[in-house]
Amino acid sequence: MNEELNPFKIAQAQFDSAAQILELDDSIKKLLREPAKVHKKTLKVKMDDGSEKKFKAFIVHYNDSRGPFKGGIRYHPKETVDTIKALAILMTLKSSIVNAPFGGGKSGVICDVKKMSHKEIERLTRSFVREFYDFIGPEIYIPAPDVYTNKQIMAWVLDEYEKIAGKHIPSVVTGKPIELGGSEGREDATAQGVIYNIIYAAEKAGVKIKNSKVVVQGYGNVGYYIASKIHKLGASVIGVSDSKGGIFNKKGLDVEKVFEFKKDNKTVVGFPGSKEISNKDLLELDCDILVPAALENQITEKNANNIKAKIVAEAANCPTTNEANDILCNKDIFIIPDFLCNSGGVVVSYFEWVQSMYGYYWPKDEIFDKLNKIMAKAFNEVYDMHENKKVDMRTAAYLVAVKRVADTMKLRGY
Ligand code: NAD
Repeated sequence: MNEELNPFKIAQAQFDSAAQILELDDSIKKLLREPAKVHKKTLKVKMDDGSEKKFKAFIVHYNDSRGPFKGGIRYHPKETVDTIKALAILMTLKSSIVNAPFGGGKSGVICDVKKMSHKEIERLTRSFVREFYDFIGPEIYIPAPDVYTNKQIMAWVLDEYEKIAGKHIPSVVTGKPIELGGSEGREDATAQGVIYNIIYAAEKAGVKIKNSKVVVQGYGNVGYYIASKIHKLGASVIGVSDSKGGIFNKKGLDVEKVFEFKKDNKTVVGFPGSKEISNKDLLELDCDILVPAALENQITEKNANNIKAKIVAEAANCPTTNEANDILCNKDIFIIPDFLCNSGGVVVSYFEWVQSMYGYYWPKDEIFDKLNKIMAKAFNEVYDMHENKKVDMRTAAYLVAVKRVADTMKLRGY
């Protein structure tokens, strides 16, 4: 991987500058720069044709000073340990920024689910749980959905884990179906959190959401719900995309019809009444709010100067490189940094974990009300840090989150 685009190196560089401003002890700095442990296994999976295929898998336990490791499972053909390490440090900071009692972790399997059957994905998931059983648990590492994993996959994680444990432990995984102890609101929690952050940022940046022009890159679980929710607030979603390409209509897209179209055609490309556009050009469209909601390293020094949005809401993890972050800041673009912007998912995961432990479930309006209060507090803490220390929003988010983790490490006597 090109070192400049290595998300773990990017996160480490951001962490280093926060550690310097915070004057962190060398011992704490050293511990926080690297994961506590990386567990690697090879999953052997029986394919539908009777053959056996091997898949590389890993779990990164990054830091658990504030609570059990928390973070999603990714299934991706180009997954790398360094990407998972970067996502795991971000999870550590994400749990910290919203004050959830979790540390950070992440896991990944190198596989192409688009080329696998439902049964093959199920066998792969069950094998993942069997191989990593000792490293998973409600007080050890609690997985959740991420790129190309979903609530069905979480249901298999739960079922296999409970089979081995010989008892019911619904708090072992979040993002599971409601029927199995999942939480109301978990499915669209990340998107809801992004929307709250956009509302707070729009006020600071002087942008009116009603009639604003919005572009969303990625039309999966996070991207679709953001498009749907912001459209309901009166914004016009003029461009969206997925891995096969993008679509654009300057008068606005019917986001629900695009969703139906993607379900039937496996892509947004070809949606009637829209113009096809590349993912590269999509990011450079003239709009008020740009929401990267796909993968990392989408805004780099090559295209940052061409970004025209007034607000960049980082729904995806690591969508912007450090050089691009500086360029966007110099252009006075309001960036809502990833681990603040997309932390709604971990907040509702925290609610789900609590509900699963107690077996007592709350209604969706109560969940989103609690979510709004937590997100507003986190946003304001970061914004105040940005104003007081005269640093950009990303550095401010690092300062708030790293300090909290470092303080617990000190209290524990690390
Ligand atoms: P998903 O698998 O449901 O959707 C991903 C979307 O991105 C799909 O539409 C896919 O086609 C598209 N995509 C893939 N490669 C692309 C490319 N090169 N260009 C444009 N689009 C591309 O995943 P998701 O859960 O929606 O996650 C999206 C992002 O949000 C990821 O960065 C993830 O880490 C982050 N995130 C997700 C959650 C969550 O709760 N699901 C929480 C926090 C952060």
